[in-house]
Amino acid sequence: MMRGARSDITKAVGDTPIVKLNRVTEGLESDIYVKCEYLNPGGSHKDRVALNMIRDAEANGLRPGGTIVEATSGNTGAALAMVAAIRGYKCVFVMPDKMSQEKIATLRAYGARVVVCPTAVEPDDPRSYYQVAKRIADETPNCFYANQYHNPSNPEAHVRSTGPEIWAQCGDELDVFVAGMGTGGTLSGIGKFLKERKPEIKMVGVDPVGSLYYDYVKTQRITKPFAYKVEGIGEDFFPSTMNLKIIDEIIRVDDKECFLMTRDLVRLEGLFVGGSGGAAVAGAIKYARQSGKKENILVLLPDGASKYISKIFNDDWMRENGFLEEDKGLGTVRDLL
Ligand code: PMP
Repeated sequence: MMRGARSDITKAVGDTPIVKLNRVTEGLESDIYVKCEYLNPGGSHKDRVALNMIRDAEANGLRPGGTIVEATSGNTGAALAMVAAIRGYKCVFVMPDKMSQEKIATLRAYGARVVVCPTAVEPDDPRSYYQVAKRIADETPNCFYANQYHNPSNPEAHVRSTGPEIWAQCGDELDVFVAGMGTGGTLSGIGKFLKERKPEIKMVGVDPVGSLYYDYVKTQRITKPFAYKVEGIGEDFFPSTMNLKIIDEIIRVDDKECFLMTRDLVRLEGLFVGGSGGAAVAGAIKYARQSGKKENILVLLPDGASKYISKIFNDDWMRENGFLEEDKGLGTVRDLL
């Protein structure tokens, strides 16, 4: 093998850059940095999770020729499909119907079978994507149900990989880590690793309006979740991969804040990120404003903009949904936060 080459694409997962934000943070006391997980080869932080879940499944007997089943909003699917392509597994992915066409087409491009289910049903409804995934997994022989919402290999991937990488890049200069809350794998795993090194590091979770995390953390009450547009963050149930005890602060953002910030990150910082990255940065800026201290804040940017071109970066879609009432030009999100 040639000296500078990697033996396969999975060896290019990780080692993502950390970059300082300059324009969207103008006027803030604190410095905000972003970790560009969208530069992973499968397109998101879930590459690390897929590698770790498949590695653990292989240690428990999964053999090539088997089938990987997952309930996924897209990124975990793409990451599993990338690893499966190399190692000879079939994939079946089950998704809610609010997900973008680009995400569905991406999974099919890797050769996966995709089953689309209604978004607007309860999680325990037999039509929900969680229940359909479970049923397919039960009925398929030689099958591994990745089950990222309850698989400890998900947060563990961040304890083994993302956490140590962040520590090597930032060390104890890091004061605050911010990420969107989906399965919680990111926050729980990175939080576990970083707090063992520096217990004062604050973990800040960002939750979209409509999800149940925020009200639960603030009031211990379970409110009725409702639909929202930002993809990949917020939940309508409590995954066991989310360790809420590790979170020091929770910030809520609405779809409009998420999407205008996403557009600003692309146009003002040149960061080609998706909606949950915009959400996380909008949350970090709100946190920085209320904290009143000068801190080094690191925000994880999960995936890239290309999957959202027909939505967040489509002015008609933005207007139809009331996220772009008038074209105020660049930087409009700063007036909202
Ligand atoms: N952003 C996107 C786009 C995602 O797909 C996910 C995973 N659902 C997240 C953020 C949240 O990451 P985690 O599941 O580790 O909480």
